[in-house]
Amino acid sequence: MTQSPERIVLPDDLRPADGRFGSGPSKVRAEAVADLAAGAGQLLGTSHRQDRVKHLVRRIREGVADLLSLPEGHEVLVGNGGTTAFWDAAVHCLVDRRSQHAVFGEFSAKFADAASAAPHLDEPLRVEAPYGTRPAVTGDESADVIALTHNETSTGVQAEIRRPAGSAPDALVVVDATSAAGGLRVDASEFDVYYFAPQKCLASEGGLWIATFSPAAIERLDRLTASRYCPAFLHLGIALENSIKDQTYNTPAIATLFLTAHTLDWILENGGLEFAASRCDESARILYGWADGSSYACAFVEDPEERSHTVATIDFAESVEAATVASVLRRNGILDVEPYRKLGRNQLRVALYPAIDPGDVESLTRAIDHVVEELRR
Ligand SMILES: *Cc1c(COP(=O)(O)O)cnc(C)c1O
Repeated sequence: MTQSPERIVLPDDLRPADGRFGSGPSKVRAEAVADLAAGAGQLLGTSHRQDRVKHLVRRIREGVADLLSLPEGHEVLVGNGGTTAFWDAAVHCLVDRRSQHAVFGEFSAKFADAASAAPHLDEPLRVEAPYGTRPAVTGDESADVIALTHNETSTGVQAEIRRPAGSAPDALVVVDATSAAGGLRVDASEFDVYYFAPQKCLASEGGLWIATFSPAAIERLDRLTASRYCPAFLHLGIALENSIKDQTYNTPAIATLFLTAHTLDWILENGGLEFAASRCDESARILYGWADGSSYACAFVEDPEERSHTVATIDFAESVEAATVASVLRRNGILDVEPYRKLGRNQLRVALYPAIDPGDVESLTRAIDHVVEELRR
């Protein structure tokens, strides 16, 4: 007789101290929430045009520049609408005629689709790879934007960020780093624009986009917006003007700004990107190491080099239903390890972002083993 999933209770010693393993929104650190609550009376529900909120925007702009060791002349832009809004902004303000996209998951495909739908642009080039792998991108003379994704959150594949050989000399390398920024190492000389939203590696809430711009990217946006219509909400020139004044064009979520600045401070005080990336490395070592040694689980991504250190995808043998395991875990307070919906695999997806304690990842592996054992009884 098998154990009814509803009746499985995790013993206390197998419960992570914090059960949030979602890939986005992701765990927000309790310390940050406590600090937000402590200062709320002076902050939440106050004007976003006053110093207290502007100071948060400045901390984010300076913190991101520090985190990524941005060279002189780069600017950090902040705007509302999350990464998805930034794709549309890029279609309007960064792509001149044609973009080239590394497509290897749902998110990288969405930006390519946004460019494809734009009537003012030529059909984008897509360099595709089967989900669970990543494509090798060779530049194309006809592309003026090369769109890379540092980490494909839908599949758990991480890419290397390099200017592709063979690209046009003035092509901009524009990187979706939504689930990578603050968790994966990167060399700022290899990109022109590095954009993300803070509800993943930066342990904040959603609704904001943050983007770093090289001088070449600023020049491009100035040139394009001078000669073509761009809706104000998607106008990166307006976003730049406001960002330089440490504000956003329209009203931001102040809690999101606070939590983002808080995580950046935490990372920078502890040693910066190297500290954060090392925590992700440690969590990845624990999780993939467990999967490699498991009789019923294995990493979905075959090549260890391509396995993400911020979002891991673990396939299960047919005899184990991942959805059932996820629902038992959920009932026991371990949340959001379900796979990316559209990938449709018998797998779990586990965030390994810097805020997530490697010790909790260790507990999670033991909790999964326990649930599977109980389900088989
Ligand atoms: C989550 C995610 C997005 C979408 O971010 P939103 O802020 O929800 O628009 C885009 N790209 C990647 C790689 C992501 O992980």
